[in-house]
Parts: sequence; structure tokens; C-alpha cells
Amino acid sequence: MTATITAALAGNPNCGKTTLFNALTGARQHVGNYPGVTVEKRSGNVKTDTASMNVVDLPGTYSLTAYSPEELVARDFIVDERPQVVINVLDATSLERNLYLTIQFMELGAPMVLALNMMDAVKKQGKTIDVDKLSTLLGFPVVETVARTGLGKNALVQQAIAFARQKEKTWQPLHISYGPVLDPILNDMEEVIRESSFMDQRFPSRWIALKYLEEDEQVLKLGEASGAKGHQQLKTVADKAKEKCFTTLDVGPEAVIADFRYGHIASMMKQGVVKGDTTHQRIHLSDKIDRVVTDQFLGPIIMLATLYGIFYITFPIGEIPMGWVEAFFGWLTNAATAIIPESLLQSLVVDGIIGGVGGVMGFVPLIMVMFMAITILEDLGYMARMAYMMDRVLRMFGLHGASLMPFIISGGIPGGCAVPGVMAARTLRSPREKLATILTAPFMNCGAKVPVFLLLSAAFFPDNAARVMFVITIISWVVALLVAKLLRTTVIKGESTPFVMELPPYRIPTLKGVLIHTWERAWQYMKKAGTVILGISILIWAAMTFPGLPDESANTFQEQRTGVEATLAAGTTDQQRSALEKDLMAIDNAEAQAALKYSVAGRIGSAFEPVSKLAGFDWRTNIALLGGFAAKEVIISSLGTAYSMGDVDPEASEGLGARLANDPTWSRATAMSLMIFVLLYAPCFVTVAVIGRETSWKWAGFSVVFNTSLAFTLSVIVYQIM
Ligand code: GDP
Ligand code: MG
Repeated sequence: MTATITAALAGNPNCGKTTLFNALTGARQHVGNYPGVTVEKRSGNVKTDTASMNVVDLPGTYSLTAYSPEELVARDFIVDERPQVVINVLDATSLERNLYLTIQFMELGAPMVLALNMMDAVKKQGKTIDVDKLSTLLGFPVVETVARTGLGKNALVQQAIAFARQKEKTWQPLHISYGPVLDPILNDMEEVIRESSFMDQRFPSRWIALKYLEEDEQVLKLGEASGAKGHQQLKTVADKAKEKCFTTLDVGPEAVIADFRYGHIASMMKQGVVKGDTTHQRIHLSDKIDRVVTDQFLGPIIMLATLYGIFYITFPIGEIPMGWVEAFFGWLTNAATAIIPESLLQSLVVDGIIGGVGGVMGFVPLIMVMFMAITILEDLGYMARMAYMMDRVLRMFGLHGASLMPFIISGGIPGGCAVPGVMAARTLRSPREKLATILTAPFMNCGAKVPVFLLLSAAFFPDNAARVMFVITIISWVVALLVAKLLRTTVIKGESTPFVMELPPYRIPTLKGVLIHTWERAWQYMKKAGTVILGISILIWAAMTFPGLPDESANTFQEQRTGVEATLAAGTTDQQRSALEKDLMAIDNAEAQAALKYSVAGRIGSAFEPVSKLAGFDWRTNIALLGGFAAKEVIISSLGTAYSMGDVDPEASEGLGARLANDPTWSRATAMSLMIFVLLYAPCFVTVAVIGRETSWKWAGFSVVFNTSLAFTLSVIVYQIM
């Protein structure tokens, strides 16, 4: 049986396509196809013993954006005729430039076989190309050819037929990252496209989104003609994206897109595809920088120094505005106390609302400085280099270069959030590596845990605060990697897949861009503080307030107070007076403590105390940690509430950190153990929900139980040996 296979011959102008077409089909086509001269497609037949292949010679193009009629002809043929295989001819003497078109075919999802043409010229230049490596990186067969002599043409035909016949082969669009500015926009656009099933029968959804950003005339026209409401939505988003690109990066979206495609190619080339390339050394500035920055030995040192530098500058810079915010909330507390008479309402406003939200907001300036540092690294292009360097390491732990972004977004550089982090793992193509990434990313140092570490390290390790933060970050990485390895060798065993990471050129970030990105991140954090955390703070306040002490014990405290007051009234020396006032305060303290312990939260916290004591946590810390299951931001605010409610000292306008440091039940070991626990225990509720959605509820449950057990075990060890 011979079934006819349709193969499209595509490539850049002058890559030798027509010569190859003639060699394959025995035709005598005119060689030397100048742009714009012939845009029609020609076809011919190739027969082998087992198959008959209809080869269509498409016009040469550099790109698949509809800038020219050639591009349109080539593109329409691929998407409408859906040839079983696209034979992508490349001029191997300028492989990088030719691969730009290949990447675009891959984004369309076309099944391809690559013909590396002009291999004779490559040899003459003294270069060699690692065909196997290129083939692995691209995921397609690659065949070396010399079209002029017909060398390699039989192998090419065989590969093309074999590839076209693979039953399981489907159109799988390549998904590459377009960086922090465009990626979220592309995701939103894809959502619109999928929801309105807008042209997505014909093109992959991400590809349509890209075309709207590139302002592709044909796609825009088709969209408009379809009359779908998705068109207008997409256009609006694309216009906004354009504005955003210009304000933050100083170039248009199409330039950003091109940069990232070339970045994708650059990183493949970096893995040693072409050897002995000395003839035309066009070393760009980015390449020069990369030589140093991604050097095998210097690279990791620079990376660690950069991370350390970030912590080192964040503290002194962040402390200044942090003081202002603290002062503001202090003023607000005083004002509310003065305006609202002493009552349940006062307690709700001062302790529940202002205390809770203020505790979180106090850290906004610090987090903003950290966000700014991350943004600069990202905009600079250095973040991608870190991912590239980490690929080797991540692989050893059963992860992937693409795991780095989810890690970093989740707080690999402190200050992220596991929710977008877990979602960023969608770019991982292998399901096992994706699962391992999703399950370990929540160990990172998210923006909600950071305040806990900042507070405790400043209070208990005042001289080494930056170093402690650095150590915590290292611990989060080490644990994430070891757990990934553990998972990949037990419950999620399997092979790893090759991967290419986009390396965009270095770009000096614009001040405006950095400010906008920083603000967006900080705003997200504050919005959470203003809504979810406010709600939870109030809930926790209620759990800590109700039920109030029973009359019986309240009366006991009242009697004690009356006794002391009577002595006071009887008239005393100044010295006795101050001693008696201290006694009164001690009674107030004892009553507040008793009330908290009697409350719902106190009972839960106390019930866990016998166990949690092993790690040094008393019932008040337990209250905070329970709140942290809902949102990690709540830990600080409920510690604040627990300590200000249980420690009524009018002179103590000192911060929570100082209060804990002076508390006799707290030590460095308690602080360290708590930091470890907070770092590693169950992801917050929102993250668990996202894990459930991205994987399954079984894995979401697994992460809660596994992480909490692991965290507790390590905390106990730290507390017991410190
Ligand atoms: P097209 O524009 O892609 O159709 O390219 P052509 O087939 O017209 O070839 C462009 C030029 O490259 C012509 O001068 C060909 O002779 C030359 N050429 C094609 N294949 C090879 C090859 O394998 N080696 C070398 N050295 N030259 C080739
Ligand atoms: Mg031609």
C-alpha cells in the first residue's frame, strides 16, 4: 500500500530550497528565487519503494508574520493544508538566523523534519554541527544535506516519510516564554481566545495572541470579519500591551517577541551545537557579557553574590520607610483608642483591624525594595541567565530549567507568591517534572513568609539579620531540591526531557519600567492585605475574644484589683505607689492571658501545645500558625494580636519584635525553629486550591500533610539541638 504524503518545503530565501526541490523531484525549476518574484507554490513527486510523497516548494520567508505575500502563502499552506510533514530547509552556514523561522513553525505546532543544507560550505569554514544535539533540543529529526550534489536527499526522504507516518504525532505548538511583561498578557489573551473559541480551530491560541501583539494584518482582518466579540477584547488588550511595552521596555511588542525568539535560539546554540565557529565571529555585547556571567565557575559566584547583595541593601534601605509606616499605624492606634470608648468595638478596631492590617502593611516598604531588586534583574535579562545556569543543577534533582521560574516567582528570591508560581509551572512540558515543581515551589520564601523572617531575624539576630535571611533562602532551596529528588525517585519516577531556555539580550531597565513593575507587585500584596487578610484578622480576633472569661474568674481578678486599689486609696509613699501600680498591671496581664487562653483560639492552641512544645511553640504561637493555614500573612498579625492582647502594657509602644525578644519564653532557638516551620509547613489555602486545580486534590492534600510533617520534624530537630 502506498499512501501519498504531502510534504511542504519551507525555509529562508536562498537557503537552497529550490535546488533541493529539484534534487528530490528531478524537476528543473528556476534556481535563484528573488524575493517577490515568484510567490506561487510548485509541487512535484517523490516515489520510494513504500511511499509516494507530494513535495510542495513554498516561497522563501524569514518570518511567518504576514508582512509580505510570500509569508502569507507559506503560512496559509501550513495551517490550511496541514501537510503531514514540513521539511524545513536551513542554510547551515547561518544557523541561528535560519532557526528563527523554525521557531515560528514550532509555535504553529507543525510537525517538522529539518534539512541542514549547505553542509559543504559549513565544512569549508572549518565548523562542525552537532546534529544529534540539535535534534534533541528541537525535538525533530535533523538531516545534513548538500542540495547541489544531492547528498543526504535519500536520508531526508526516509526521515520525512517515517515522521509523517508516526501515528501518535500530533500538532503540538511550542510554548516559549516572552518575559515578565508579555507572558501574563499572553495568558489572559489565550483565555479570551479559548473562551470564545475564536479562530482556534485554525491556529493555536497562543499563536493568535502573539499575532494580535505583532499586529498581524491578516489575523486582525480575519478577527474583525468573524464578528466575534473576542476580537475587540483582544485588540484592546493588545493596545494596552503595546503601551506597556513602550513605557516599561522602550520598544514595541514585536521587538520584544523577536528578542525572546532569538533568545530561545541563542540558548540552544550555547549548548554547543556549532563547533569551531571562528570565521565570522559576530560577538554581540550580550554574548560578551554572557561569557563572564554564565561562566562555569564565575557564573555561580556572581549569582550568589547578587542574591546576597540584594539582602544586604534591602535591610538598611527598607528600614527607613518602614519606620514611617509603623509610626502611621501607631498614630492610628492612638487615635482610635482615644475616639472609641473602651469596649468590644474598640478592641475590634484597634486589635483586630488596625493591629492585623498594620502588622502586614509595616512590611510593604521592605517587600517593595525586594520586588524592585527582582524587577531590575528580570528587566535586565539576568534572571533568564540564572535559569540557564541552574538548568544543570535542577536536572540533577529531577527538575527542569523551566522549574526555575516557578521557584523564583514563588519566592526563590524572597518576596514572591506561590499562587502565580504554581501556575507558572504550566510551561513545563513533562508532567512529572511539572508535578515535582508544583509540589516543591511552595517551600520558597514567599512575600507572606518574609515578614515573619524579617521580624524574627531583626529581633533575635540583630547583628546578622541579612545573613539569617540569606541562610533561610538557602534552606528553602536545599529543601525544595532534596524533596524534588525524593519525589522524583519515589512517587513520581520517570525520564527527564530536554529543554531550551529563552535568553533575551541584556537591556538596561528603564526607571519607569522598574517602578511600574514594582508597584504592580506591591499593589497585589496590599490588595491581599486589605481584603483576605482583613477578613481573616477579624475572624481570628473573634476567635481570640470569644467566649469571654466566665463571671466567676472575672470576679476573682476584679477582687484582686479592688484590693490593690483600696490600698492605693489609703495613701502611700511614692515608692509604694509605683509598686502597687505594677501589681495592678500584673493583674491586668494575668486576666488578659487567662481570657485569651479561655477563648476558642486559645483552646485550640493549648490543645496542640503538648506536641508543639517539642519545637518550642506555645499556645499563642500555635494560634498564629493555625491562622497561617489560611494565609501566611496572618501569622504576624495574629502574633501581634496575641501578644498585645495578652500583655496589656500601656508603655509598650515597642514593636512586636522587641516584645518577643524580651519575652522570657522566647529564645534564639524558638525563633529559628519557628522560621523553619513557617518556611516549610503547609502551603496557604489559596495555593492548595491552585495545586488542586493544576494537578489533583490528592496531590493538594499530599502537600498539606507532607509539608507540615516535614516542617515539624525539622523544627523539632533545630529546637532541640540549638
Ligand atoms: P532558494 O531561494 O531557497 O530556492 O535557494 P536556491 O535553490 O535558489 O539556491 C540559492 C543558491 O544556493 C544557489 O546559488 C544554489 O546553487 C546554492 N546552493 C543550494 N544548495 C547548496 C548547497 O548545498 N551547497 C552550496 N554550497 N550551495 C548551494
Ligand atoms: Mg527558490
